[in-house]
Amino acid sequence: MVAAQCRTKIVATLGPASSSIETIRRLAASGADVFRFNFSHGTHEDHAARYRIVRQIEAELGRPLGVLADLQGPKLRVGHFADGRIILKAGQSFRLDLDDTPGDTTRVNLPHREIIAVAKEGCSLLLDDGKLKLTVKTVGADFLDTEVVVGGPLSDHKGVNVPDVALPIPALTERDKENLAFALDLGADFIALSFVQRPEDVLEARELIGSKAWIVAKLEKPQALDNLSAILKATDAVMVARGDLGVELPPETVPLAQKRIIREARKLGKPVIVATQMLESMISAPTPTRAEASDVATAVFDGADAVMLSAESAAGSYPVEAVTMMNRILERVEADGGWRTIMQASRLEPEHYTADAIAHAAQQVATTLAAKAIVAYTHAGPTALRIARERPIARIIGLTPTIGTARRLVLVWGVQSIVVPADKPVRDTETMVSTALQAALDTHVASPGDSIVITAGVPFGISGSTNTIRVAKIPAA
Ligand code: PGA
Ligand code: MN
Repeated sequence: MVAAQCRTKIVATLGPASSSIETIRRLAASGADVFRFNFSHGTHEDHAARYRIVRQIEAELGRPLGVLADLQGPKLRVGHFADGRIILKAGQSFRLDLDDTPGDTTRVNLPHREIIAVAKEGCSLLLDDGKLKLTVKTVGADFLDTEVVVGGPLSDHKGVNVPDVALPIPALTERDKENLAFALDLGADFIALSFVQRPEDVLEARELIGSKAWIVAKLEKPQALDNLSAILKATDAVMVARGDLGVELPPETVPLAQKRIIREARKLGKPVIVATQMLESMISAPTPTRAEASDVATAVFDGADAVMLSAESAAGSYPVEAVTMMNRILERVEADGGWRTIMQASRLEPEHYTADAIAHAAQQVATTLAAKAIVAYTHAGPTALRIARERPIARIIGLTPTIGTARRLVLVWGVQSIVVPADKPVRDTETMVSTALQAALDTHVASPGDSIVITAGVPFGISGSTNTIRVAKIPAA
């Protein structure tokens, strides 16, 4: 069992730079909690091999690790060019059409009839992560004639963003559905949905996922921000996907969107991940810029559950250094009294039901007694989530009978999770207390002489019944 980790969790994307067992072991040892498998890249064999490695390392470390399968979603792309690449000049006209013959400087294929159907004169098309910008001049039956506003090089299969219109396309493509089935078979703990626009997108995925995994809705469309509270209600967790969000919205709106999403997600007690470009320069350098260090710190001060690395850990030259650096920033901020004050000041009112009353009271008792841990018995995780929502000073230990719940809780702010072995079920108060005390010792969260606070449901073994708070002390050695 490893020593206590940061409250803020780290999601590290695996890719070509991080597929060997040695590297993944070092990423986990350096502080990665959840591994993201990006289904926009790699084969099923690549993902299956990485999955086996993550589970092997989980067993070696004796600490649950999460696996997040990130589905590409309806990412729009242009077709290909006769010469592989063209240069567009500002002011010129350029046609996007349904004809799949190779493109040139006058036209290229846009294999998405739905987009042509909803595009309006005057709306913008952003190409290649927003580097190029076109304005629609004429909408034809099977083409769009545009004027180039910002030019530059454009090569095969570059992405297209259409920020101005709600796209009449589902969040899951046929390819996503295949990848989803594969990821669920593999045992992914989280399924991330890209380009979610409406709560229905989440509900549609829920039909296929059921309770097999938590759904992470990636917020990267302006339409998703318009529907934020409904999406938050429908999903299990969210990601502030600043890459595409920053293409679809002006960059100056991204910091406010980040703060708003984190605030609303925390209000509902839904985990929130801040993603993209956090330590971007570490793709090719062993240290980050000061601004990047500051960006990671900001997410911690906002009270995000997790921060994420993309290309830094998946494809960069310094994957282990990036996780190590991120972890150092988290540790440094969380050791600061100012951060603690902000967490306490941003604490939320409990909602009016039993689980929240217990979570809120447990936090207060723990603070009054300077208890080192709140140990929560939880079946599917909600009790631990509600305690995490309080952002308590004490560590949170989630004790659960199922490994699936333990792995999901890895994403949640401040929670360390432990599986209560099936051969040692908790059926009475004495076992409840002794198991909790042992968990606090095993996680090195508490030492002999320390108090802990325990929450549980009595009678034991019934899901959703949390109704009890108990204070216990680890006997002095
Ligand atoms: P992506 O999502 O890396 O899958 O595009 C994250 C983002 O857009 O920020
Ligand atoms: Mn994205």
